[in-house]
Amino acid sequence: MSSERGLRLRIVATARRLSAAGMNPGRSGNLSARVEGGFVVTPSGAAYDAMHPDDLVFLDEDGRWGGGQRTPSSEWRLHRGVYRARPEAHAIVHSHSPFATTLACMRRGIPAFHYEIAFAGGADIRCAPYATFGTQELSDAAVAALEGRRACLLGNHGALAFGDGVENARDLAEKVEALARMYWQALQVGEPALLDDAEMARVVGKFAGYGKPGG
Ligand SMILES: [Zn+2]
Repeated sequence: MSSERGLRLRIVATARRLSAAGMNPGRSGNLSARVEGGFVVTPSGAAYDAMHPDDLVFLDEDGRWGGGQRTPSSEWRLHRGVYRARPEAHAIVHSHSPFATTLACMRRGIPAFHYEIAFAGGADIRCAPYATFGTQELSDAAVAALEGRRACLLGNHGALAFGDGVENARDLAEKVEALARMYWQALQVGEPALLDDAEMARVVGKFAGYGKPGG
């Protein structure tokens, strides 16, 4: 596992990139990475472009944080829930990126309209039912929508992606946003043709062979 200092620097760099890309409008969204004994998460109300590595908040596996730190993101339960349920998750990007959030507000997941949906791990990207931000209910809904997947939409809220490192989580979050935009565009014209489950299983298998989003 990388040093916590190194991870903090990479989280800040990733946050700045997501901010520059318009992925966290109005200071929405948050990032985290698993570290020894718990995880570090971006602080509540942080402007990504002004964030310092020391602003990130360490929480233990039960979600407790000590004094002398900033207050963690109000979505810390969302991050804790995913780390508990998915041992392979080492970093999480939660965003209110515009196109993924547009679909989430329609309570509409993303079907297999493009083979790259398989980057999220299966034949679709599900949309979790709505639950109030910051609640355990939202965390539970996200974990359910993530079954067999590394990304999901969150009803009337946003999106979540995880990876085995900060950069992979970021790449998947950016991929989900791009796919959401393309799906939304296709819906302006009509209903896109969908790939069947057998083809998507084939693509998932091919991706597993050569790895990571970005290919
Ligand atoms: Zn949110």
